[in-house]
Amino acid sequence: MARYTDAVCRLCRREGQKLFLKGDRCYTDKCAVERRAYPPGQHGQGRKKNSEYGQQLREKQKAKRYYGVLEDQFRGYFDIASRMKGQTGENLLSLLESRLDNTVYRLGFAMSRPEARQLVLHGHFTVNGRKVNIPSFLVKPGMVIALKESSRDLEKFKSSIEANSFRQPPKWLDYDRNLSVAKVIGTPEKEDIDLPIEEHLIVELYSK
Ligand code: SF4
Repeated sequence: MARYTDAVCRLCRREGQKLFLKGDRCYTDKCAVERRAYPPGQHGQGRKKNSEYGQQLREKQKAKRYYGVLEDQFRGYFDIASRMKGQTGENLLSLLESRLDNTVYRLGFAMSRPEARQLVLHGHFTVNGRKVNIPSFLVKPGMVIALKESSRDLEKFKSSIEANSFRQPPKWLDYDRNLSVAKVIGTPEKEDIDLPIEEHLIVELYSK
C-alpha cells in the first residue's frame, strides 16, 4: 500500500499543530511547528480561508495523520463505526485507538506512532502468545499484548521504556511494566483519547 514518504513535519505544519510523528524531536525547539507556525508551501503564509467544509476536511486529515492511516482505510473504519451501536464519531476514535501500533505507542514502547508501526512490522510483539506484525490489527478486551521475550533486552526498548516511564497507560490497558505485558481490559472511550480531534466534524463530512 502506498504510504506518505515526504517530510512528516509538513503534515503538522499543514494541520497547524503538533502531531508528534518524530519522537524526541517533537519535544524540542527543533520542532517545525515551533519554528514555522504556518502551513508549508509557496502560499502557506497567505492561506486564511476556513469554510465549514474546510474545517471538516482538516479534522479528518488530522485524525488520519495522527494514526498514520490512509484514506481508504480511514473510510473503512468510518463504515464499521457507523454500523456499530452508539455514536459513530466516538466509535471511529475507539477503532483507531484499538490499532496494535497505537496500543504499542500508548504502552510506551515507542516514541511516536510511526515508530510503533515500524516495531510492529518488525515482529517485536505478540498477541495472545502469537507474533502479530500487522499494525492495523485491532486489539479487543481479553487479548494480551506482549513485547517478545527476545526483544526485551534490546537497547531500543530499554531506552523507550525508560523515557516513557512517566506516561500512564490508558485505563483500558492493564500493563505490567516489569514483564512488558498488557491485558486489554476495556474498550477505548472518548475520555481515554487525549488527542484534540473533533470527531463530529468528520461524521458531518462523510454524511454529506
Ligand atoms: Fe510534528 Fe514532531 Fe515534526 Fe514537530 S517535530 S513538526 S511535532 S513531527
